[in-house]
Order: sequence, then structure tokens, then C-alpha cells
Amino acid sequence: MIRVAIANQKGGVGKTTTAINIATAMAATGWRTLLIDLDPQGNASTGIGIPAHSRETSSYDLLVDQAPLASCIVPTSIPGLDIVPATVDLSGAEVELVNVDQRTDRLRRALAQDTAHDIAFIDCPPSLGLLTLNALSAADTLMVPLQCEFFALEGLSQLLQTVERVQQRFNPDLGIVGIALTMFDRRNRLTDQVADDVRACLGNLVFETAIPRNVRLSEAPSHGLPALVYDHACAGSRAYMSLARELIARLPERRKAA
Ligand code: ADP
Ligand code: MG
Repeated sequence: MIRVAIANQKGGVGKTTTAINIATAMAATGWRTLLIDLDPQGNASTGIGIPAHSRETSSYDLLVDQAPLASCIVPTSIPGLDIVPATVDLSGAEVELVNVDQRTDRLRRALAQDTAHDIAFIDCPPSLGLLTLNALSAADTLMVPLQCEFFALEGLSQLLQTVERVQQRFNPDLGIVGIALTMFDRRNRLTDQVADDVRACLGNLVFETAIPRNVRLSEAPSHGLPALVYDHACAGSRAYMSLARELIARLPERRKAA
């Protein structure tokens, strides 16, 4: 199983929207896909149609109680897509894990048990705390949603420093599969300028596909559906399908034969 962390310590940049829709696109393409909600807000779980009251096991059980992975996975309504949902008690995990052994290694060890999926996406919380460190330690590669706004690049350099630290201390093989520009608005000159700057600075690391600002993408979660199911033809859904194709092309060769 290839493991992709979706992280950016800024909130509201499109991590969860990207996690839900990329995971759905991969499942639709025939990849047996697992989505892991590692944000105590549980937006990925709600957005994929697992309401808070129905969550019996969660990523908290996986990390803190070291419950078996299989017991924490629930199916979604999308064929080929399973999820480990998050519950609010996950917010306590940052503190509860501080004094345990190998506290950054819990998720990696849990995912090592998996035999049922080809790919996993880990939706990270908006911080660089223990939860995100667990995701980066468990991941083969990192995908960074980047909102085209003025301070985007500053936040990014902080994230890249964290990646370096994780590579040095916990996970030397961690790669960066790409940066996805989100909430892109061609008519807004600032967005356009930021996108140009990011591409000039980071070159091929930036995916060619930019996700447009699209109201259907923001409506879909309230229906408990990925945008790709809610309205598969909207501009946002088409962009996520295109991003998924780019992602597949960038995954290590030996893993592609799903
Ligand atoms: P994060 O997980 O990084 O906090 P979200 O994916 O939850 O970010 O997105 C933040 C908000 O912006 C949500 O309300 C979401 O529905 C909305 N949103 C995300 N991407 C887009 C987009 N491309 N167009 C319009 N709204 C978006
Ligand atoms: Mg989120």
C-alpha cells in the first residue's frame, strides 16, 4: 500500500476537500483506497457521509489504544473507498501521546498491518503537532494543497523544514509527490500572481492542474458526498479527476499496477 499524507499546517487551504475527492477519484479508477481522517474536527468523515454519532471506532483508537487497523475501518457509500473516521477525542491524542514510546511511529505501525488497500490518503489537521508527525512518519510521500494567497509561500517553507526534520529523524524515504494549487481564481490578479510565483519558485513540484474556486466543491460535504459524486461534471470535480491522473503518473513505478 502506498501512503500519501495530505498536509499543510494552515487551516482552510483545501486539505480535506482534496483528500475526499482525490480518494474518490482513485477509488473510481479501480484503486482499493483507504482514507484516514487524522483531524479531530472530523471533516473528512462527515464529508464522506459518516456522521459523528455513527462513529464507533476511530483514528483515536488506532493511535492511542493501538487497536487493530481492521477494527477501525468502515466502508463508505463509494465502492472501493474505506475510511478510518476521526472523533473529537483525537484532539486529546496530541497530549496523551507525548509520554508514550515511539509516539511518532503509531500510525506507521498500524498501517503496516494493511493488506486490503492499494493506497491510503491521510488527511492531516492544521498544525505540525504529533498527529501530523505521525502522518509524515507513516507516509511514503506528501501532497501539499496550497491556497493561492499572499502568505502561501511562507507557510510552505515552514512545512518543508518539518519535512526535512522528519526525513532526518523518522522517515528518510519521505518524498513530496507534489503541490496542488487550490481555490484558484483566474480572474483574481493576486491569485494569478501567487500561482506564477509558486511555479517559478518550485517548478515541476507543482501539479499542472490547479483546483478552481468552485461552489459545488464547498456544497458537497453538507450532503455527505464527495463533489465527484454530488456533481461529477462540475469544474471542481473535473479538476480533481485531472489531479488524480497526474498523481498516478507521479507515483513510484512499481506501485502503479493496482
Ligand atoms: P482544510 O482541510 O485545509 O482546512 P477544507 O478542504 O476544509 O480545508 O476547505 C476549507 C473550506 O473551503 C471548506 O468550507 C471547503 O468546502 C471550501 N473549499 C475548499 N476547496 C474549495 C474550492 N476549490 N472552491 C470552493 N470552496 C472550497
Ligand atoms: Mg481539513
